[in-house]
Amino acid sequence: MTAQTPSLWDTGVEQWTKVRPALGSDISCDVLVVGAGYTGLWTAYYLSELAPHLDIVVAEAERVGYGASGRNGGWLSYLVPGNRQVYEKGPRGHEGLVRLQRQMVDAVDEVLDVADRSGLAIDARKGGNLVVAPNEAGMARLRLRYAADLRAGMATDEVRMLTAAEVAERVDVAGAVGGLYAEACARIHPGKLVRQLADLVESRGVRIFERTRITDVEEGVARSHHLRVQAGSTLICTEGFSGPLLGRRNVIPIRSTMIATQQLGDADWERIGWQEAECLSDTSHTFIYAQRTADGRIAVGGRGKPYEFGSRIDERQGCHPQVEQALLDRLTQYFPGVRFRADHAWSGVLGVSRDWCASVRYDRASSVGSSVGYAGHGVAAANLAARTLVDLVLGRDTERVALPLVDHRPPRWEPEPIRWVGVQTMYRLFRTADAREEKRGATSTSLIARAAGKLAGLSP
Ligand SMILES: Cc1cc2nc3c(=O)[nH]c(=O)nc-3n(C[C@H](O)[C@H](O)[C@H](O)COP(=O)(O)OP(=O)(O)OC[C@H]3O[C@@H](n4cnc5c(N)ncnc54)[C@H](O)[C@@H]3O)c2cc1C
Repeated sequence: MTAQTPSLWDTGVEQWTKVRPALGSDISCDVLVVGAGYTGLWTAYYLSELAPHLDIVVAEAERVGYGASGRNGGWLSYLVPGNRQVYEKGPRGHEGLVRLQRQMVDAVDEVLDVADRSGLAIDARKGGNLVVAPNEAGMARLRLRYAADLRAGMATDEVRMLTAAEVAERVDVAGAVGGLYAEACARIHPGKLVRQLADLVESRGVRIFERTRITDVEEGVARSHHLRVQAGSTLICTEGFSGPLLGRRNVIPIRSTMIATQQLGDADWERIGWQEAECLSDTSHTFIYAQRTADGRIAVGGRGKPYEFGSRIDERQGCHPQVEQALLDRLTQYFPGVRFRADHAWSGVLGVSRDWCASVRYDRASSVGSSVGYAGHGVAAANLAARTLVDLVLGRDTERVALPLVDHRPPRWEPEPIRWVGVQTMYRLFRTADAREEKRGATSTSLIARAAGKLAGLSP
């Protein structure tokens, strides 16, 4: 295991990086937000906008942006957080799914608009989402995904299938047999967004305490070790770290690993043929996700060593050399002729529920709420979820409070060791399925991958 180098997103952000005080005594407030990632900070942002009289406190165990919000791939995307089929089968049915999908498209613009209005420098560029199929089996999956996009309310001018030549016009991925392109996706710099969002909410009077871990939440009072925070409402926004507060079998931490290459010169970009700002991924079961960064690198991620026994989060976990190498190999496969080097390597955890769907809740009786489980699609979803949580807290009758993620109750994960064995097996099966599909030139998804999807709860 190699040490975690600072994430690319922790560099070049000195002007927005500050050390905030830790909670030093008992306090009281109207609303306590637990966690200073996108969910917590957007929650504080909209609460302070809609109810400026409220005294809002954000308690963060480490520092602003310590979690996935400071480490992600920077895809601000329309992708629904979770499994669309599950939402559709829920009480809000097909209509609910369509509303959720439309709200996700709008959430992309909402984040960009707020950034624009508030002067946040987040390196945003709306270049769309390009998914490439490296083989016919992947292409078959893309056709299904395209049909599912349309079914979920996307319009044909928002999402379209691409031929191999059309893919190459956007990004010259070697061996791509076709692709899918969706407009509602922007590349951003995650670390800049989370830090400036924190500054923005502070400028509205929100108090943020860092190095303040909330250890216990009850009606009306939260504890940080021996200190008490008396709060009218407490909102738990701790995503992959939620086990201790929300139950280890409710949301598990799944680790995703990223690298950022060296800065590439014009000649390399010419060879790569990636002149715009598309967020790029592929149809592999062990898919990668990538962006062309504002400073001319490729930041690319994938699932490496995804899960530790007992839902532990070992932050010494850096980037395993074999994962780093696998990401470099994928880049070399897609862009032969360019020599890539990993200048940065890091990883982080995202929150996954048993049915891979998110859940936004607020219990009026205890005045405790939460928003977690975006399953790796949380950059735009956290904004939508935060607005939804704020609506629930303030009792606002909006379209959002009838979204299928409101009060969604996923089944619980299995107890250990079944959970650990299940997750490891799922990823092993996905790797095997990729190898088989490639080797055999499969034209449809392998049975192994279908079995892994069922095991994971990805295809009900
Ligand atoms: C490597 C990686 C790549 C990703 N790429 C993308 C992407 O490109 N696009 C996309 O849409 N999504 C992506 N995601 C997912 C996305 O980043 C997350 O869904 C989103 O950032 C979640 O935000 P959050 O605020 O809910 O959680 P987090 O950002 O994880 O914030 C939770 C915060 O709570 C704090 N905390 C935890 N426990 C406590 C406690 N007890 N007391 C006080 N504070 C506590 C943590 O320290 C943390 O700062 C990625 C995730 C990872 C890890």
